[in-house]
Amino acid sequence: MKFGGTSVADLERIRRVGRLVAAEVEAGHQVCVVVSAMAGKTNELVAWTDGSGQAAQGLAASDDEYDVVVASGEQVTAGLLAMTLRNMGINARSWMGWQVPILTDDAHGRARIDEIPPEKLSAALDAGEVAVIAGFQGVTRDGRLATLGRGGSDTSAVAIAAAVGGACDIYTDVDGVYTTDPRIESKARRLEKISYEEMLEMASLGAKVLQTRSVELAMSQRVPVRVLSSFIEPGEAPGRGTIVCDEDEIMEKRIVSGVAYSRDEAKISLYGLPDHPGVSSTIFSKLADANVNVDMIVQSHARATDAANMEFTVGKRDAARAVEIVRGAQAEIGFDEVAIDEDVAKVSVIGVGMRSHAGVAKTMFGALAEKGVNIQVISTSEIKISVLIDAAYTELAVRALHAAYGLDKV
Ligand code: ADP
Ligand code: ASP
Ligand code: MG
Repeated sequence: MKFGGTSVADLERIRRVGRLVAAEVEAGHQVCVVVSAMAGKTNELVAWTDGSGQAAQGLAASDDEYDVVVASGEQVTAGLLAMTLRNMGINARSWMGWQVPILTDDAHGRARIDEIPPEKLSAALDAGEVAVIAGFQGVTRDGRLATLGRGGSDTSAVAIAAAVGGACDIYTDVDGVYTTDPRIESKARRLEKISYEEMLEMASLGAKVLQTRSVELAMSQRVPVRVLSSFIEPGEAPGRGTIVCDEDEIMEKRIVSGVAYSRDEAKISLYGLPDHPGVSSTIFSKLADANVNVDMIVQSHARATDAANMEFTVGKRDAARAVEIVRGAQAEIGFDEVAIDEDVAKVSVIGVGMRSHAGVAKTMFGALAEKGVNIQVISTSEIKISVLIDAAYTELAVRALHAAYGLDKV
């Protein structure tokens, strides 16, 4: 079981989590519980590190102290939940990442889990103990604390389930995965089931209900995942939540399953590039060397001249650095001008049915045109289409697309 920040936001909610855990124990299950920090806590901790220096910005391999600070929120909730469970007469103890141990690489601030030796946890479970595990944190091979990137407790939970051979129930503040963010579109519907592939796209395109890596891991380790509401009492009609599973377990095939959006994008435009082989290679190798992740790319040729223009997107956090890098190589690359636009958003439609159906793009572009939303960049994969638009139109676009694919119809 995993409980996110809003589910453990105060002591009353932690007591409710205690009751949900107790119900699982009474049902005869062995239980590991992964908890996030109380809602808002991690943001506060990150802001403190911002105030103390550059660590949170750069996230270089040496930024181990950033992790020491931001991982502390989960220590508090793990301890509080274990105490609550003990007070309810349940045999429970807390586990920090290093105690399990959850072994990670040393990419501080965005570490990946390498391995979780299951022996200690399994022994505790076999002894009838509930293991309350601090999410989001692990330990590097050289014994330093590391965090798994924002939203990382989902990944902790799936990794623990894989290690001890269990299923993973993610309890959160919505009762499942919806056709789009219910905070933006009140007509969004809960999906009974969603395939790993679609959930992976939804997560990586901005739906923060599950961290992208948690879905990758669930898919590769075949961990059954359910997303459920924590705002219920044991015994209440729990709602069925959403099951994340293999595509062939889903009977009802939809062409489009969901709409996602991300405001975390910045667009960088290079004007007046020389139009010859090797230019793109130079630009993108410089960015890659600096660990800047590039997402969408479009290049266009000016008809009359020999010059080309290029636009690409990066995460907002990397934008200033990306501009600095290309500016630093202006003479080598040979462009006239660089511009940056942070007022952009990426809106995407996702669905495995796209593999076999034509006309998905037509519907998307038609719906956006009807609302007067201009498309700046387009990118596609087998099961998604993304467009970059002016950020001011994000909600309008999400709602228009949600309606255009009939996702609001029950
Ligand atoms: P937790 O703190 O439990 O980890 P998060 O805030 O990380 O919860 O994720 C839950 C939120 O994800 C919801 O409140 C909702 O606004 C947002 N969300 C975005 N897209 C979706 C979607 N397609 N389905 C459900 N929730 C979504
Ligand atoms: N507390 C961490 C965060 O806010 C991890 C998580 O909640 O999943 O990003
Ligand atoms: Mg989350």
